[in-house]
Amino acid sequence: MKSVPEHAVKAWIRGFGVAVPRGATASSPEGVGTAAHGLTSPLVVKAYGPGLVHKSDAGAVRLGLESPPAACDAAAEMLTALTARGVTPDGFLVEEQAAPGVEVIVGAVRDPAFGPVLLVGLGGVWTEVLRDTALRLCPVTEADAHSMLDELRGAALLNGSRGRPGIDQDALVRVMLAVGSPGGIVDRLGDGFTEFELNPVICGPHGAVAVDARLLGA
Ligand code: ADP
Ligand code: MG
Repeated sequence: MKSVPEHAVKAWIRGFGVAVPRGATASSPEGVGTAAHGLTSPLVVKAYGPGLVHKSDAGAVRLGLESPPAACDAAAEMLTALTARGVTPDGFLVEEQAAPGVEVIVGAVRDPAFGPVLLVGLGGVWTEVLRDTALRLCPVTEADAHSMLDELRGAALLNGSRGRPGIDQDALVRVMLAVGSPGGIVDRLGDGFTEFELNPVICGPHGAVAVDARLLGA
């Protein structure tokens, strides 16, 4: 099973109207520092390559970097720590840090009998703990996408609660449709994928940004 690098998946899904952070790749920590000059802090640095599927678990994500030199240092520290554990990254992604919001997973899996299924759920890194997801067979309509969100046990989080504003549900629905509607990402992948996952899509009161993107080929 072939995993496509995060930055390549992000570049591709932009063409479907999915917002992703501005970013650049580099092959060395110094390159990260140089590439970071074109970006607005705070920044995020991630290492990519074989063996780096769950990046946070591997120590391959650093958030809240306030300057290009800080991004360069973070990449250098990451490289030292990864190398000590026998992991050699192919390179680094440095990107702008999205404003905090509600973290949502939007994904697609292939059911052996029924074909592609769209998934939406609450949680970001907590998805597996919360287990609050809704599923529909693809292709989905706009009405399907809205009803999936209504189905979530944590729907109140999306609507706003305890003084926090609700999220831009239309923006989240647009991401879901980019993935699961006719002519969308899942359609275009055809038989060529096992798993596609945007986790998280960070949803704020204005807009929704896919800050992680994973594609496992067939
Ligand atoms: P992985 O899922 O492989 O561990 P992610 O790329 O999802 O790695 O990063 C881990 C977490 O870091 C995300 O769930 C999110 O909370 C945060 N994060 C990653 N990239 C960004 C970004 N560009 N802006 C804001 N938060 C980010
Ligand atoms: Mg992730």
